[in-house]
Amino acid sequence: MAPMLEIKGLKAFYGGTQALHDVGLDLEAGGITTLLGANGAGKTTTLRAICGMVRREGTVLFDGQPIDKLATEDIVRLGVAHVPEGRGTFTGLSVEENLKIASFGRRDKSGVKRDMDLVFTYFPRLKERISQQAGTLSGGEQQMLAISRALMLGPRLMLLDEPSFGLAPLIVQEIFRIMRRINQEAGVSMLLVEQNASLALDLADRAYLLETGHVVMSGAAQDLKNDEGIRRSYLGY
Ligand code: ATP
Repeated sequence: MAPMLEIKGLKAFYGGTQALHDVGLDLEAGGITTLLGANGAGKTTTLRAICGMVRREGTVLFDGQPIDKLATEDIVRLGVAHVPEGRGTFTGLSVEENLKIASFGRRDKSGVKRDMDLVFTYFPRLKERISQQAGTLSGGEQQMLAISRALMLGPRLMLLDEPSFGLAPLIVQEIFRIMRRINQEAGVSMLLVEQNASLALDLADRAYLLETGHVVMSGAAQDLKNDEGIRRSYLGY
């Protein structure tokens, strides 16, 4: 079966600066793939290039359909949701307003209701805080809200950028457990960028290593976890 997401020869540019030179990856439907790499390697830019938030060249196929020339809103409509670095919630709005705004573009109102219920089964803490201003939530709750906003788009693929950033280990574990449930129970595929390489490799089934905008290694997540170079450079043992 063809991969759900297929990327070939992807390049990305910030003005005159080329941040991605040659990124290629395949993601199977139902899978979790992680992108590893040092700071500045191009992980965030890869996610942004997939969803059309940066100037890009190359081929990106989603379900076999080219999305590399589509606008971000059209890519979202096809079922690709981005959970950005820094979370991207509306801090002055309530939890409920944040969730409703995320689903504005959808016409399937029964689907919206179902996804709102789903969000609260995954994140009961958000239900308890439904009227609270997003800016007053804890860091972990804000990350939960960011993931929930993506869920409200009814995605088939989620692009997650540093979900553990700035959070205490226990809350990171909780969020990763819920990400696994979303993958397994709701069938949402994931492409994950994560500083905590060990955690990312445990969650993912496949992994790619980026260096200066190129893919330099890829394989089963457990194989990369056992690779000596990866262990030394990214796992610290
Ligand atoms: P980090 O883990 O530090 O977030 P990363 O692997 O996600 O790193 P990117 O943020 O994708 O890396 O950055 C890739 C390259 O693009 C870097 O050289 C970075 O300086 C450059 N870059 C990123 N954003 C911009 C921007 N808005 N304008 C210009 N250059 C940028």
